[in-house]
Amino acid sequence: MGYKKDIRQLNSGQLEEFFINKNHKKYRVNQISDWVWNKGVDNFSKMSNISDDLKRLLDKNFVLNKPIEIKSYKSIDGTIKYSIQLHDKNLIEAVLIPSNKRVTACISSQVGCSLDCKFCATSRLIRKRNLFCYEIFDQLFFLNEQSKFYFGRKISNIVFMGMGEPLLNYKNVVKAIKKMKLKRGLNFSSKKITISTSGIPKVIRFIANEDLKCNLAVSLHSAIQKTRETIMPFSEQFPLEDLIDSLKYWYKITKNKILYEYIIFDGINDDIEHINALIKICKIVPCKVNFIEYNPIGEVNFKQCKVEKLKLYQKYLTNEGIVNTFRISRGRDINAACGQLINLNKVGW
Ligand code: SAH
Repeated sequence: MGYKKDIRQLNSGQLEEFFINKNHKKYRVNQISDWVWNKGVDNFSKMSNISDDLKRLLDKNFVLNKPIEIKSYKSIDGTIKYSIQLHDKNLIEAVLIPSNKRVTACISSQVGCSLDCKFCATSRLIRKRNLFCYEIFDQLFFLNEQSKFYFGRKISNIVFMGMGEPLLNYKNVVKAIKKMKLKRGLNFSSKKITISTSGIPKVIRFIANEDLKCNLAVSLHSAIQKTRETIMPFSEQFPLEDLIDSLKYWYKITKNKILYEYIIFDGINDDIEHINALIKICKIVPCKVNFIEYNPIGEVNFKQCKVEKLKLYQKYLTNEGIVNTFRISRGRDINAACGQLINLNKVGW
């Protein structure tokens, strides 16, 4: 038997064609879709309303490549990181972050990452491949079950802040989000989904047109091109003017504010020049700024700035009426925090 596709790689038109070719009725498409996307079954034999004949046919032609949990790590702050093995043995990580009001799922979009942010451990991994839409979806389905089990409630928020650059796999990300929103399935509201990107202008324009109604977070980290290129070298190909242009377009189409993610690094972007540059950029497209704590990744050139510098940034931005928050890191002790996902079988740096 040759290579069998996951049945979820077929869209409903392709599935319909398959059924018709095999002398089965079209309405089977809806039944199968209900089992795989809404109920998330891992085996055709569990599809109780279809005949044995059809089950055998599905089995012969397709697979359901469900991921396997290899290991989980629990942080002292309640965060749980999962190491997940895909059908081809590649590993990814996904994180469950509980708090009083919410349970956030942080999911991956690629195996590894092709970007080169100097402060991010994931960038040291090579990008092996993009995740299929069902692999993105499966992380959420799995984390949702875990959330119900451990925290007695469903996931409330989804962030694409795991491994990879979601906009370099945007077709699968978009498909997965559409499946996450299915009313009879996971039933997620787009408002609770945040795509985090390092800033790929062309794709920002594409997804603006997709009418997903999701939130967009942009990993800015510096509003000065030269500094940005030093810490995120790939950004040389995507100058800030282009990025901002694409964000203007995003806002025009979606009317949804941008969230800028910003780490203030000691001695790199913690001076007044960088503060003023950030203020200037924030005035172009309606936005909020989220200062994020730098999570150590064993890289000596990067350090979190002094508290006074953070305060200074906050004071200047607030004076200008720019909404800003500071996000405390979660799951650092188990290397589950932003930038720390690297399939490392150890705890702490
Ligand atoms: N590729 C996407 C999503 C993954 S990273 C992106 O770049 O947005 C999610 C967030 O974590 C990004 O804002 C990223 O810049 C940030 N990050 C990366 N390394 C970090 C580190 N060591 N400490 C804190 N945040 C980090």
